[in-house]
Amino acid sequence: MHHQPQRTPEADMTVAPDTTHALGGPALPQRRRIHTEIPGPRSRELQERQRAALPAGVGSALPVFVEAAGGGVVVDADGNSFIDFGSGIAVTTVGNAATGVVERAAAQLQRFTHTCFLVNPYESYVAVCEELNRRAPVAGPARTVLFNTGAEAIENAVKIARAATGRPAVVAFDHAYHGRTLLTMTLTAKNRPYKHGFGPFAGEVYRAPMAYAYRWPTGPEQCAREAADALVELVDRQIGAENVAAVLIEPIQGEGGFIVPAPGFLSAVAQICRDRGIVLIADEVQSGLARTGRWFAIDHEGVQPDLVTTAKGLGGGLPIAGVTGRAELMDAAPAGGLGGTFSGNPVSCAAALGVFEEIERGDLLARARAIEATMLPALDRMRQRHDVIGDVRGRGAMIAIELVKGGDHTPDAELTGRIARSCHAAGLLVLTAGTYGNVLRFLPPLSLPQDLLEEGLGILADAFDAQA
Ligand SMILES: *Cc1c(COP(=O)(O)O)cnc(C)c1O
Repeated sequence: MHHQPQRTPEADMTVAPDTTHALGGPALPQRRRIHTEIPGPRSRELQERQRAALPAGVGSALPVFVEAAGGGVVVDADGNSFIDFGSGIAVTTVGNAATGVVERAAAQLQRFTHTCFLVNPYESYVAVCEELNRRAPVAGPARTVLFNTGAEAIENAVKIARAATGRPAVVAFDHAYHGRTLLTMTLTAKNRPYKHGFGPFAGEVYRAPMAYAYRWPTGPEQCAREAADALVELVDRQIGAENVAAVLIEPIQGEGGFIVPAPGFLSAVAQICRDRGIVLIADEVQSGLARTGRWFAIDHEGVQPDLVTTAKGLGGGLPIAGVTGRAELMDAAPAGGLGGTFSGNPVSCAAALGVFEEIERGDLLARARAIEATMLPALDRMRQRHDVIGDVRGRGAMIAIELVKGGDHTPDAELTGRIARSCHAAGLLVLTAGTYGNVLRFLPPLSLPQDLLEEGLGILADAFDAQA
């Protein structure tokens, strides 16, 4: 990896304003270019309008207003071009405004925009379900139903599990994130900003420890077994297995800080569920659809859930979500029991078919693994230089580092914010995460060119060197 010197904003001030960025998608010039302070004057004007028109509860990780995006860059209203290590939040996995997505969605827009699948069905909805069924990690024949958002998919997976088992309780894990609706914020672990002041919460939600090796009190070797024992204790002693409809788990936790469960934990959870007739739901809203170098993150562990939820990467930026599962469970909800006005919108379905096509045509599973092969060693080298990097983890293009006070595991959220801001100022879009706010997470689009990936890692390395 070459370390590009960090360029100061002034160094680029002489460059004439760029007008070639009007068009987004893969045609967008693939380069980093920062020529104002961040956010720039035009973005600050728009921020003023935002403050007057939107509630304070809507924030942005990097408040530059976007004009165009594609390949591996996001271009703002001031003509700054950022290297994209976010993909929205793991949404534009095939790239922003990817050709296959845009062409199919545009053609669909010309034909019809909506019928409501519950009124008149259309082929593309069925085709998206077939694509998901073919690749789903579940055993035996699969069925899929479509929704609009990740939260809606989780809500419906729980409805299906309850209908199939006749049981009420749902078990979620520490550090989990499942959405912002009443049930899904209840399932989410972290209080601020997701839950505080928004209660009372939904009933029959229980929480088990996540096999978080880096922070396991008795050490990483004991982690998977002790976390599995704690789940058994919760299910058998506290709730009663005969009352548990579902165990819900992210095969790699997203907002919680890209926590990869200790090896063996997911298969232990699956066995615990199987033995007790409990539905195992894998929430792959963030980790699914090529993000980790396999179609689903749970594929890395060879574990088969009963239901799997997808959303973020599914529509290439258009809203669409799915619940895919074993046919006999999926058929448990009565006719008319599943659906929604906009669910499986035809433009979103067309876009999703474009996503499958882009992943196949571009061999993007391999690209995600290649991104991992570049990122993990580069981040490990940074960890050797900086003891504030406590942990490096993740799979494919879903990689994170956890920042701590040098020498121990005390989370350092303040440093995490500072590093993120310094990356932003230098033209690298990174996101933070984690229960303790001390994780920098990297979710580059799989269309990010290799030279920009390496340039982005160089900016990150410079940001740590400048703190040292
Ligand atoms: C983002 C996310 C959700 C919620 O999805 P929305 O589309 O924002 O409702 C649920 N689960 C996981 C793992 C997520 O990352």
